[in-house]
Amino acid sequence: MTHSVDRIPLKSPSPGTERFLTVHRFGTEGARPKAYLHAALHADEWPGLMALHHLVSMLDAADREGKIVGEIIVLPYANPIGMDQRQGGAVPGRYAYDGSGNFNRNWPDLSPMAAPYLGNGLTGDADADIVAFRGALKAAVADLPARSDVQHWRATLLGLSVDSDYVIDIHCDQEAQAHVYCHVEHAEIAREMAAAIDFPVVLLEEEAGGFSFDDCNAGVWRRMGGLVENGDALSMTCFACTLELRGKDDIEDDLGRSDAEGLYRFLAKRGLISGDGTALSDGPIPYRLDEVDVISSPIAGLVAFKAAVGETVAAGQVVAEVIDLTAADPLTARIPLKSSTDGLFFARNDLRLVQPGENVGKVAGRQPLAHRKKGALLEP
Ligand SMILES: [Zn+2]
Repeated sequence: MTHSVDRIPLKSPSPGTERFLTVHRFGTEGARPKAYLHAALHADEWPGLMALHHLVSMLDAADREGKIVGEIIVLPYANPIGMDQRQGGAVPGRYAYDGSGNFNRNWPDLSPMAAPYLGNGLTGDADADIVAFRGALKAAVADLPARSDVQHWRATLLGLSVDSDYVIDIHCDQEAQAHVYCHVEHAEIAREMAAAIDFPVVLLEEEAGGFSFDDCNAGVWRRMGGLVENGDALSMTCFACTLELRGKDDIEDDLGRSDAEGLYRFLAKRGLISGDGTALSDGPIPYRLDEVDVISSPIAGLVAFKAAVGETVAAGQVVAEVIDLTAADPLTARIPLKSSTDGLFFARNDLRLVQPGENVGKVAGRQPLAHRKKGALLEP
């Protein structure tokens, strides 16, 4: 039995209160491969909480049978700060109330901070360099500012994740089919995840912009060129992804259990759990992020959808109409919102009252779209 449960204290936000992270550890510290999973980094996205709740029990059973091969770290909730930010009974999530911004943006670029810990640089010997670089990353994370409670929380999560082979950051969309974002170099691993969990959309990015948690963990491996000797020879040894487990309301025991079974299959396939090497399909053909049309509303208004989540749509097809509530004549109040590509309408907004410029839905297609700009592909 290797399963242990740690309670990692976070900074107290106000006198008489305390916060902490619950950390489930399976396998042997330092064993490879290492996987790190957490849910609800944005605080208001809860399907992953259900999935990891079920996964912990499955991993515990595997552990009792001695099947954990590497090291697996599971945080069943990632963001107690955001979960505590209630407003009028709702949990708005996404942005920190302390003014530090979106919980999943502006994670640090660790590359310049790791470089000094590599002394004369890397050797070009891949195995030795991976070990040295992981050590440098851990040291860099230990140097991160941790004065505020949010800074300390961010550094604590990175301290657990940054030396992993697999980082699975579980979010959700508003109303959506499950989908995953990862770097283009990791397309095959992401397809395997899609096959294991059984979802249709893999989204590949090169430079999505915004410094998300997954990019912080994986991207640093390709940012060492020019910073240290042989830095450009490092391969992207950490697979990190943002897994969107459907829409905000898709929280059911059955779904959570089947997602946990999918995650378990993925971990087994990647060599973290023995004896469960189920054969998987090749998974879906990935889409590049600049092939995903993000349809927005030109005005403030009420949205009437004309396409369902999961529907295949054609370029020019009306997926929604936005109703101008100020119009004198209701018959002329509707503005059609069209897809600019043939593809899969895989996600849509759950807010029916939108503001001008607000995202209404997303269509994954096969053609690069001119209005989708590299480096600014994620929503704010
Ligand atoms: Zn999110």
